Amino acid sequence: MGKYFSAKCSQCGAGFRSESRSTLLKRLRKHIWSKHRAWMIGRIKAGQKRSNADNPAIQDLIQAVQKGSSRAAIAVAKQMTEGRYQQVKKVMDAVQPILPLKAQLA
Ligand SMILES: [Zn+2]
Repeated sequence: MGKYFSAKCSQCGAGFRSESRSTLLKRLRKHIWSKHRAWMIGRIKAGQKRSNADNPAIQDLIQAVQKGSSRAAIAVAKQMTEGRYQQVKKVMDAVQPILPLKAQLA
């Protein structure tokens, strides 16, 4: 018996087991996106609202993306500090699959 990482879906209690942490997280994320999409989107929106309170640049970035202007979004991203950019990038990676193709960052 090898060593396994395990996780449980917080929404439906489905269990996942994998030999590597990254595979486990990938499977869990895939499950959440296919089974609990609305909840996930709500969570991202709540996260955006929270970060907007102390970081208006994120709002600028999201507005630029919503308008479909990836050039404007990149310009905003370039003005950010590295740490802040990584934070934004995480949000962007999470919302990218649900954005129209033209709005996706290059
Ligand atoms: Zn679930």
